[in-house]
Amino acid sequence: MADPAPCATIIDGKAFAAGLVERVAGASARLEQEHGVRPGLAVIIVGEDPASQIYVRNKGETTTRAGMRSETHRLAEATTQADLLALVGQLNADPGIHGILVQLPLPAQIDASAVLGTIDPDKDVDGFHVVNAGRLAVGLPGLVPCTPLGSTMLLKATLGDLSGLHAVIVGRSNIVGKPMAQLLLAENCTVTVAHSRSRDLPALCRTADILVAAVGRPEMIRADWIRHGATVIDVGINRVASADPVKAAEGKTRVVGDVAFAEVSAVAGAITPVPGGVGPMTIACLLANTYVAACRSAGVEPDNLDA
Ligand code: NAP
Repeated sequence: MADPAPCATIIDGKAFAAGLVERVAGASARLEQEHGVRPGLAVIIVGEDPASQIYVRNKGETTTRAGMRSETHRLAEATTQADLLALVGQLNADPGIHGILVQLPLPAQIDASAVLGTIDPDKDVDGFHVVNAGRLAVGLPGLVPCTPLGSTMLLKATLGDLSGLHAVIVGRSNIVGKPMAQLLLAENCTVTVAHSRSRDLPALCRTADILVAAVGRPEMIRADWIRHGATVIDVGINRVASADPVKAAEGKTRVVGDVAFAEVSAVAGAITPVPGGVGPMTIACLLANTYVAACRSAGVEPDNLDA
């Protein structure tokens, strides 16, 4: 059977991210002109993981395009934790670097939480440091994880005021689900966080005005889980076999989200596609965080980066 016709507005994360990168570039140029501070981002990658290599190259290129200083530190797979910590220490002390990102995953000999905990929280542009998690939880200014930050921007650009809406977030990870819950609480949503032990997930999801899927299970969320007209943010990135059996037999793959896009877009009011939805917002928010960190280091109030 053919896929049902979509009625949902497709939220164009790619276009929104391009606009955000432009606004960050403009704001960064003003920061440099008026205060002599050029935002700088250092990315550290350890080992040869192919997906990580692509992410890191994209981050470096986008940072440079935005007129920021970009440094990539490529370390060998066998790098010791002590050497990595020493590099983080050097970057913490470098006044020209305002953001430090350590690409995950790290090789087995390195304790990722020890490394992330060593990054100066004011340069922690991934927002993963416990100090930034704490700041977000109590409503203090800090650096917010990029994916939930970008997802919240898309929601506000689509719906305007989110006050009073019921948001159901499926997934409770420290990097997506939990910070997403904090951000939507701060926007005055009523927030439900669901996870693998939640009972009757489809019924729970049907109560959502906003559904955020951050699960890591391909197309798990189906059309009959969605209230008519709800806004759906699909954070999932899952690589599956190509839909074309011939290509699948050749080992070709495609990327899908946690939401069954074709059928859900016939019910939802608005939905992010995968790819082209939340993904591009993550890099754009990394640059936004680097700009904000650079402003704070100079005691300057950051420009409002909303559209
Ligand atoms: P994660 O750390 O593996 O967390 C997954 C969450 O989903 C957990 O809280 C887990 O519950 C819950 N879950 C798993 N199976 C479930 C089920 N059957 N029913 C209900 N809940 C279930 O994943 P993550 O790092 O948050 O990432 C989630 C997805 O987002 C992945 O596809 C990832 O690739 C993607 N992602 C995308 C971006 C982006 O830039 N767009 C960035 C980060 C992540 P428990 O806690 O009970 O185990």
